[in-house]
Amino acid sequence: MLPKLLRTECLIGGKWVGSKSGKTFEVINPATEEVLASVPRMGHEDVQTAITAAESAYPKWKAMTAAARGNILDLWAEKMREHSEELSQLLTLEQGKVIAESRIEIEYAASFLSWFAGEGKRLYGDTIPSHRTDSRILVIKQPIGVCAGITPWNFPSAMVTRKAAPALAAGNCMILKPAETTPLSALAIATLAEEAGVPAGVFNVVTGARKDAPEIGNALTSSPIVKKISFTGSTLVGKFLVRSCADNLTKLSLELGGNAPFIVFDDADFDDALLGVQICKYRNSGQTCISANRILVHSKLHDRFVEALSNCAAKLISGLGTEDGVTQGPLIESRAMEKVERLVKDAIDKGATLVTGGKRHELGGTFYEPTVLCDVTNEMAIVHEEIFGPVAAIMRFETEDEAISIANDTPYGLAGYFYSRDVGKIFRVAEALDVGIVGVNTGLISTEIAPFGGVKESGTGREGSKYGIDDWTSIKYICLSGLEK
Ligand code: ADP
Repeated sequence: MLPKLLRTECLIGGKWVGSKSGKTFEVINPATEEVLASVPRMGHEDVQTAITAAESAYPKWKAMTAAARGNILDLWAEKMREHSEELSQLLTLEQGKVIAESRIEIEYAASFLSWFAGEGKRLYGDTIPSHRTDSRILVIKQPIGVCAGITPWNFPSAMVTRKAAPALAAGNCMILKPAETTPLSALAIATLAEEAGVPAGVFNVVTGARKDAPEIGNALTSSPIVKKISFTGSTLVGKFLVRSCADNLTKLSLELGGNAPFIVFDDADFDDALLGVQICKYRNSGQTCISANRILVHSKLHDRFVEALSNCAAKLISGLGTEDGVTQGPLIESRAMEKVERLVKDAIDKGATLVTGGKRHELGGTFYEPTVLCDVTNEMAIVHEEIFGPVAAIMRFETEDEAISIANDTPYGLAGYFYSRDVGKIFRVAEALDVGIVGVNTGLISTEIAPFGGVKESGTGREGSKYGIDDWTSIKYICLSGLEK
């Protein structure tokens, strides 16, 4: 039985429509390989219609008070919470993650709507002591206009609201292009947006198959009407978008790949670190951009830690995300499976020790066994590429400086984690890691109230928190003069 919120058309300008070409593509359940639905394959013309709809809706939406926009976002959040179970079921069906994680994601997604409903009202400007006696200086923050969001499949609901909520709260209109593997969550969220009273054209969704993504992307980047694009996805596509945005100088926010170090120092609380690494590594079957990619364990704890983690990994239960007791869903698609297999093989060929797992799961499809590798070294591809699978790659280190140097030896800089009880070391290491997010004594850092984003090739811009709305505004300086008698 499929949930009620399953939509197979796109919301453009307040209408539910198919693609102009009439073409559709299939959405597959990665756990069963069954077809869940067919949704529109949109292209240039469909995107143009969405851009025009957003452009027409913009003046009215922008003119509303922040409180009025906030009330609609609050209602949207309420509707997501009301329909949490259906949304969670749909998310698990199309993405594969276990239902408990889907429920958490739906609450996380709703939290962005609630948070930015309030932040819109706090989009304060400034007054600056003037440089002249006859003038005053005011600073106001204004919306940018028509914006676009391009989202990935690993958090099909939360990534939508993390972009749409601040965009709309600040008075912008949006065209959203969800990932081809998980468009159904975005369409369900759009249904609730409509119910909550988001006016026609303010929030539009265009779906497309993998092969349509460049055309959809190009329609967005080549339009002079689209003033900003916020993208979450691979560094490869992020760089491509930077180049495509050059002609119109379209503003870009990028949340790209990561290669998170997870450091366990010798003074760490062993059990806490063990729990933290499991959450950080195996949540969503390792398919998050902030998953622990390189696990660095001090040589004093190394052997005990490897053994304990492999015992935990061996107890994880793979299966259908909707079933009780299951902790691990499948990988999203065969491409992901091939990458994980390649990285594990390369590591073993180059001398890594396989402690547990290391192969396709007997369930078949794209299920991969929770895996632990140790004796991982810098020569192995697994250290340099984002694994995006349930494989813990453990490296050994001796000193604080060595750990920091290994941790920073990557072009990426999204999240980093470490466990220590030494307050001096905590500050030193937190400040030394070249990342945008640091988890100290925790493996779980995502929340709508804190700024999420990276440095280096992990991107630019921040999402969530009071900082997350700034990227969706333009600062205007008003010099008010002629004030003297
Ligand atoms: P992944 O490899 O994890 O699927 P991608 O970066 O390829 O990550 O995809 C993230 C999002 O970017 C998806 O919505 C995808 O459709 C979209 N995308 C992929 N290629 C392009 C492109 N050339 N232009 C615009 N969006 C794209």
